[in-house]
Amino acid sequence: MDKRLQVRKSSICKVVMLGDAGSGKTCLLRRFMNDMFDASTQPTIGAAFGTKTVMTSNNGPVSLQIWDTAGQERYQALANLYYRNANAAVVCCDLTDLRSFERLEYWIKQLRNAEKGCKIYACGNKADLIWDGIKNRAVTLQDLQIFQTKVFETSSKMSYNVFQLFQMIADDLEPVENNSSVSTQVNVNAVEKQNEKKCC
Ligand code: GDP
Ligand code: MG
Repeated sequence: MDKRLQVRKSSICKVVMLGDAGSGKTCLLRRFMNDMFDASTQPTIGAAFGTKTVMTSNNGPVSLQIWDTAGQERYQALANLYYRNANAAVVCCDLTDLRSFERLEYWIKQLRNAEKGCKIYACGNKADLIWDGIKNRAVTLQDLQIFQTKVFETSSKMSYNVFQLFQMIADDLEPVENNSSVSTQVNVNAVEKQNEKKCC
């Protein structure tokens, strides 16, 4: 099949990354988008979202439009536009940081207030720090299960479970004829264009 046609026909799934600053959201996204990990960069400054198409067994190609924060989570000030029409959310904590786990409740509540139907995936990051004995485990898989969501332990550094997480999100997407996330994408592009004009 013509590749362009395949992409054009794919469903769009809006995925939002949530969790406290430092929990590993951007590194997770970078591993998935570019298959890279760079501990030295400041990855929170960047695009509003990235898109990657994955093949699913039931839904054909699905374009995951993944939104990352640009550090606004520090001020607990994620705009409604961030949550709007999200199909899935990855709520992140650092497996070695109990506080980041405790804060998941807050993030899930914010999400539920803004977007009720969104599927949630609880994700404990930085498993490699525990494997290497650099830090102690503060959060278990059982802890993550209290939210009654699908749960993952990942390591962006070691590329552990990252692609599996996003593949599952794409596989879980209900087939949709008329996906409302498309209109969000158009709006965001418009916002970015406006900002470009304002810049400098
Ligand atoms: P965010 O604020 O939630 O976006 O978190 P970042 O993705 O910016 O990561 C915060 C810090 O944790 C950075 O110093 C990363 O290098 C580090 N980090 C993120 N993921 C991993 C991981 O899988 N393993 C290790 N060892 N460090 C990680
Ligand atoms: Mg970040």
